[in-house]
Amino acid sequence: MNGSLVFSALSLTKITNPPKRVLKVMRREDISEEGTPRYEYFRGVEGDVVLDMTDMRGIEDMGDRLKVLPGTPWSDVMKYSVETFGLMEASVGGSVAFSDAGFGFNEFGPISRRVEVEAMLSGQTYVGEYRGGVILSVTLRKDPRPLEYRKLERDFEFLIRRVRYWFSYSLPPFRDVTVIKNGDKATLYVAYPKSREALLSEKLEGMTPTSPYSFELGNYRFRYFGELRTESLSGTQFPDAEKICLFVRKDVTRFVVLSSTPLDFPQGVVLYPYSTEGRTDLFQGCILCGRCVSVCPHGQQRGNKDYTPLGFFIASVNGREEEYANCHMCGKCDEVCPAKLDIVGRLKGKAKLRSHEIDVVLNFPAKKVILLTPISRELKKELVDVLNLLSSLGMKLGVLTLNVPLEKLVKGELELSLPQEVEQIYTLTPEEAYYLVQLRSRRVMDVSFLYDELPEPLKKSVTDKRVHRPCFYKGRTKGEEKCSFALLELVNGEPTSTPSVGAEITLCPLAGKKLGIPSYLDVITPSTEGKQGARGVSDEILRTFKEREKVMKDMEWYEGLDDTLIQDYVRGLLRGVLKGKGVGDLISLYLGLGDLFKSSEEEWLLKIIEEEVRREIMN
Ligand code: SF4
Ligand code: SF4
Repeated sequence: MNGSLVFSALSLTKITNPPKRVLKVMRREDISEEGTPRYEYFRGVEGDVVLDMTDMRGIEDMGDRLKVLPGTPWSDVMKYSVETFGLMEASVGGSVAFSDAGFGFNEFGPISRRVEVEAMLSGQTYVGEYRGGVILSVTLRKDPRPLEYRKLERDFEFLIRRVRYWFSYSLPPFRDVTVIKNGDKATLYVAYPKSREALLSEKLEGMTPTSPYSFELGNYRFRYFGELRTESLSGTQFPDAEKICLFVRKDVTRFVVLSSTPLDFPQGVVLYPYSTEGRTDLFQGCILCGRCVSVCPHGQQRGNKDYTPLGFFIASVNGREEEYANCHMCGKCDEVCPAKLDIVGRLKGKAKLRSHEIDVVLNFPAKKVILLTPISRELKKELVDVLNLLSSLGMKLGVLTLNVPLEKLVKGELELSLPQEVEQIYTLTPEEAYYLVQLRSRRVMDVSFLYDELPEPLKKSVTDKRVHRPCFYKGRTKGEEKCSFALLELVNGEPTSTPSVGAEITLCPLAGKKLGIPSYLDVITPSTEGKQGARGVSDEILRTFKEREKVMKDMEWYEGLDDTLIQDYVRGLLRGVLKGKGVGDLISLYLGLGDLFKSSEEEWLLKIIEEEVRREIMN
């Protein structure tokens, strides 16, 4: 199911039971049964079966007309010169279905009377003026004649008197007359074809040229849509409203009124049913704009829009938001939310994430270190490859592990304590860098900085490819941005099929494993150096022990008398072997000591090998 909770919200102050079924509609063939269409999230009507048409978006330019799919917002249409348009945040289908007033003309009333639709009614498709049913596309005419725009800024009451006067005699030959009040500032806008200028000269007196204007719903918690008779227009009909848009027409003026507190309207003002009702906004400041829905990887991971901030805030009405909070806190929603809600902060307060631990302890501090966390616990081969590459470039790095509960790292609930000498931290994944930066820790960056250090041919081996750019990557490289779900799976334990990305490599090694494509680290680091190297070094140690077997046996005579003699001898042998070995191979050896030397070796000998490998790494 593609999100039923999100369609239970019918307006900012009205909620109903979630529909029984939601059908996602991207084209006509997807409509397998009758249902109630939803073209946008902020207004709708109740229905047991909802047709989710919010993602049915697209514009086909047909020369003098545009064919627009119903979920397309007007903001996408604006770059074409259309003869009428609606509220920027509203969908084209929603504006027709709800009979919105349009900008751009005044000879006609609502948008639905000015456009042609292809729609389905009782199983039959029809083309023409909208008369109900499911809208499949809307055809808008382009404006062949460029319009002139003028404006006049005055007191709201003054402007209302002026337009009421204009319309009291006959239809003024403008294409549009709109009054917008924003706080204390009121502006009258008019639009007309140049050819009519002579007819309008008297009315245009005192007005100044302006550009086409639009009106946004913004983040007001109370929205009123309605109409009143133009002859009875007066400023007192909209007490305390913060923002007003009046589409002045011959007989009837339609309006949008926005406020952060509930308003009462006097008699004679008709409110449409999709106006906010009641006196309480339900969704903790969420204005149901749905912008977070299209960017949210969590909703995509679950294949359900309920698992987005929109669903989270709607669920909060019944105190059930915990069920929808378990994401990886990427913050993409915060970036697009027009209501400026601290979404991630609220998610953190409700999320219950899984905790993973890292299974090794690496404690090799240095000025610059690579930090492994529970997120990169499966990336030990990559760690070794990076260390090998960096040491071949003359850079020496230490390695530390941060064994903290994953949940605390993701939610930023840690006090990070690192050895004093650490000045710079590198992480193998962009995710870790992102979380550590949130902790305001010392300088952190993910190892994609390696790019800049590389010789040109190696750089090209990455830039020549189609790149996947993961959610948390903040660097300059462009690429296809699609969540691999790798980290989401780690934090919420929700198994996910592998999303298809049209990329050959990814900038995140974690994503690479999930997507089954190499990461840029795989491309630029010498392959298989790590494990092979460790095996090579361990073989060399064993060979050396074998060659000196007799001496070592002989020294066993001193056992219990002077154990240091044989220990010092073994240390000397080990130092001879380990000297000059690459740090990557040494770390790989350190990580694999248990496997490489098996239990046949005596405990004291294993301990000395570990100490000497460690000593050589620190050198
Ligand atoms: S933080 Fe990211 S995954 Fe979580 S709700 Fe926001 S956009 Fe979705
Ligand atoms: S959380 Fe913000 S972006 Fe998402 S629907 Fe609500 S207001 Fe819009």
